[in-house]
Amino acid sequence: MAAPDLPVALVTGAARGIGLATARWFLANGYRVVLLDVDEATLAASEQALRHEGVSAELAIAVPADVSHPQQVDAAVQRTVDHFGRIDALVNNAGVAVFKPIGETSFHEWRTVMATNLDGAFLMTQAVAPVMLEEGGGAVVNIASISGLRASTLRVAYGTSKAALIHLTKQQAVEYGNAGIRVNAIAPGPVETAMAAAVHTPAIRADYHDTIPLARYGSEEEIANAIGFLCSPQASYINGQVLAVDGGFDAAGVGLP
Ligand code: NAD
Repeated sequence: MAAPDLPVALVTGAARGIGLATARWFLANGYRVVLLDVDEATLAASEQALRHEGVSAELAIAVPADVSHPQQVDAAVQRTVDHFGRIDALVNNAGVAVFKPIGETSFHEWRTVMATNLDGAFLMTQAVAPVMLEEGGGAVVNIASISGLRASTLRVAYGTSKAALIHLTKQQAVEYGNAGIRVNAIAPGPVETAMAAAVHTPAIRADYHDTIPLARYGSEEEIANAIGFLCSPQASYINGQVLAVDGGFDAAGVGLP
């Protein structure tokens, strides 16, 4: 391996959107990266794009896996260790959104959202922590949402999964802290990604524009910058926190659209 001393970041849901921007942040800041995603075609295309940009397999690899599937999670973590030998940062970013009120949300939709957004972060962290413990520490960032801070109609499954993810973050921070693993969460406001394109109606967009003090959506890179900071040594005393990266939405105290 040409770069054995560089730290390694594992980013889930990295085929596109915030996850891909986060993988790029790590590459630009001296990490080696594993991009994990269940969408094999989009993941392969993103890996190909990185290769065209000169990023070799010594710096980044794509690992297809479903974060809600325990055996696939274990295999992906083993593949990471086999290839890079260590894991210093884990970003639990894989997520799905269903925006429906309680009466219209099927049990299958509820379970799918919980399995990806909550079970996925539980399983990934459970599998990665022993690797970090062997190295004496690491950093985990769970990607929650402002939907996990505030209840609203339309978000029974999504909002509940993100609120639970925020509590899981605190549990993990308390349990792993004295082993040198810091765990924090980011609660992004709206970001212009494929997910937002799928669930943000024109009415939701207009409402966000009116209620977010910065009066705009965030960019994938703005979320990635905050994730990268929380993983970095500059955040060495930050543990168990939720950082809203939302243009001031949470501070304004208004309701979710
Ligand atoms: P996105 O849909 O563009 O990307 C999500 C990625 O996760 C996709 O590549 C998808 O294939 C992958 N994924 C889904 N289920 C998976 C599974 N079971 N295993 C592995 N990978 C899986 O969405 P995004 O907007 O980039 O969202 C990234 C994260 O940010 C999500 O957790 C989302 O809930 C959160 N978030 C997004 C917004 C927003 O407005 N876009 C706001 C707040 C929070």
